[in-house]
Amino acid sequence: MKFDVVTIFPRMIDAGLAEGVVGRGVEKGLVDVRVHDLRTFTTDRHRTVDDVPYGGGPGMVMKVEPFVRALEAIRAERGAPDSVVLLSPQGRLFDQGEARRLSGLGHVVLLCGRYEGIDERVRDLVATEELSIGDFVVSGGETPALIVIDAVSRLVPGVVGDRESVEQDSFAQGILDYPHYTRPAEFEGHRVPDVLLSGHHAEVRRWRMQQALQRTIERRPDLIERRVKETGNERD
Ligand code: SAM
Repeated sequence: MKFDVVTIFPRMIDAGLAEGVVGRGVEKGLVDVRVHDLRTFTTDRHRTVDDVPYGGGPGMVMKVEPFVRALEAIRAERGAPDSVVLLSPQGRLFDQGEARRLSGLGHVVLLCGRYEGIDERVRDLVATEELSIGDFVVSGGETPALIVIDAVSRLVPGVVGDRESVEQDSFAQGILDYPHYTRPAEFEGHRVPDVLLSGHHAEVRRWRMQQALQRTIERRPDLIERRVKETGNERD
């Protein structure tokens, strides 16, 4: 799985990928992330990536030309990408289904905005899709890019050592994960449920499924409704 990230803060991406499961995936060569400093693709002495907004108003807007040049360089160096994602609060919501879809592609480019946003022509000319990590605004696209890379990379075979762990994660089967416990069996009067200490694998499996369903109904009934609609549509 190849990612190219275009940003004015390359070190944020490098730092975010230095540790943990995804960091190891990068080390093992299962995930190939190339970070491109947008300023490299400017042509003026000051390496300008932003300018004042036409029509006035607060803040600065990221210029279109450096993004176009960055994409040209990526195409030349790394081949034509399957998707060029503009990270934006106005995009389609990024969820586990989107992560699964992107993990099925070979090469994804992530464009990180800053300031007031990006010149609309980047949407029109460079991006092939727009994704949001949620209904809130963060200061730049770097954290959203790291979230996308992390969620997608977990689904790349070999990145997470135990495949079963990814398959049991929340949302993987359309429901939340079951509760987890480790030693000690009792902590300040709070005991681990007896069934987990019983050694009865079938009982443990049943309890976990029941817990996962119960907490999904309590916390995220929308997931159950979605599942019911999807299976209803499958039957139609
Ligand atoms: N004025 C813009 C708007 O309201 O749509 C927000 C600009 S935001 C301060 C700067 C950059 O952060 C955006 O261009 C985008 O790349 C990134 N960003 C902010 N919130 C995001 C979100 N929820 N999902 C993905 N990217 C986001």
